[in-house]
Amino acid sequence: MREDFLLLNPGPVPLAREVRTAMSEPMVSHRSAEFESVYERAQNSLDYIFERSSLDGTKTTSGGTSLVFNGTATMAMEAAVANLAGEGDEVVTVVNGKFGRRFKRIADRYANVTPVEFDWGHPVEPEAVAEAVSDDTKVVTMVHNETSTGLLNPVAEVGEIAEEHDAYFVVDGVTSLGGDEFLVDEWNVDVAVTDAQKCLAAPPGTSAMYATPRAQEAFDGEKAPFYEDLDWHLRKAESHQTPFTSAVPLFRGLAVAVENIEEEGMQERISRHRSQSRAFRAAFMAMGLSMFPEKNDESEYSNTLTAISLPAGVRENPDAFFDAVTDRSVSISGGQAHLGGEIFRVSNMGNLSSEQILRGVRAIGEAFHEAGEDVDLEAGMAAAREQLR
Ligand code: PLP
Repeated sequence: MREDFLLLNPGPVPLAREVRTAMSEPMVSHRSAEFESVYERAQNSLDYIFERSSLDGTKTTSGGTSLVFNGTATMAMEAAVANLAGEGDEVVTVVNGKFGRRFKRIADRYANVTPVEFDWGHPVEPEAVAEAVSDDTKVVTMVHNETSTGLLNPVAEVGEIAEEHDAYFVVDGVTSLGGDEFLVDEWNVDVAVTDAQKCLAAPPGTSAMYATPRAQEAFDGEKAPFYEDLDWHLRKAESHQTPFTSAVPLFRGLAVAVENIEEEGMQERISRHRSQSRAFRAAFMAMGLSMFPEKNDESEYSNTLTAISLPAGVRENPDAFFDAVTDRSVSISGGQAHLGGEIFRVSNMGNLSSEQILRGVRAIGEAFHEAGEDVDLEAGMAAAREQLR
């Protein structure tokens, strides 16, 4: 792979050189002091991220524990649900995209599930959630930033409903944490999960969880899958170890990546992500394209990835367009499941520079020209530059 190949997929995202270097250091035992120090560094910076993801720099929570798992966020989502709910327990899951559906499919394996479903790309209607949640509800699950559609979901409103009924609120912050606001206490979040390879800009293969003291008290590791017993993970984490063999190189890469985030500062990082996603949106609108889905209110759009409807002409042969992007050493994503061939998705997660955002805009505009779509590339570039200024 060329060094300058630019990944603009919604994860994995490009890695900093020092993250890649950290992964190739000589191996150590996962029971050594060296490893404990790696995990401790990762935990400290993850605490910072989970507790300081606010635009105004204020602390959003305290007193919880950050855990790192061997395994991607799907495993962390399962661990959260399976340690809180079991046979006979009621779980309400909010679904308006692929990852909301994943939470539902996970919860289906462990508990009685009431899904609150909307079309993919349709905003979550809190009134419908309020109807489904009752005092019998043990857990409510929801995705903050729905990666399959580029929609930002109303976590605050749903968290309020969960709190009114004393239910545990488990939130997937996979494509928001580390790049956008995530207000743990204000939103009544009990468990937050995220992936390494998204806004954290770490190698894929690990995931992270923030468990509040309230959630920790409720965990029942005995009923969870053996590998995902969170009581055990929490016990071992006190001495900065994991119950089983840790993926040492991945933990090392993660530790450096999250330290980099702490160095940048979450306030700066959130502002940067917001201006970069505005730049993508403005560029594609100026080119004459349409957002997927079209919304009146900008605040409903993700600040870490942008989903755009493919024009009718390009839908006839979307591969020609995607190949033309790749020919320019840039990688973007198409739609998932039934949205395949209907949209493209471009990410601004991680550590991208303004130049990389502009390179993405140019590559996509040129690819449209090559695919026979007459978009106004220079207007798109000017609109993006304006937002990045
Ligand atoms: N949740 C969201 C919002 C995601 O975007 C993803 C991955 O793209 C996941 C969960 C699951 O991630 P993984 O496949 O890494 O387990």
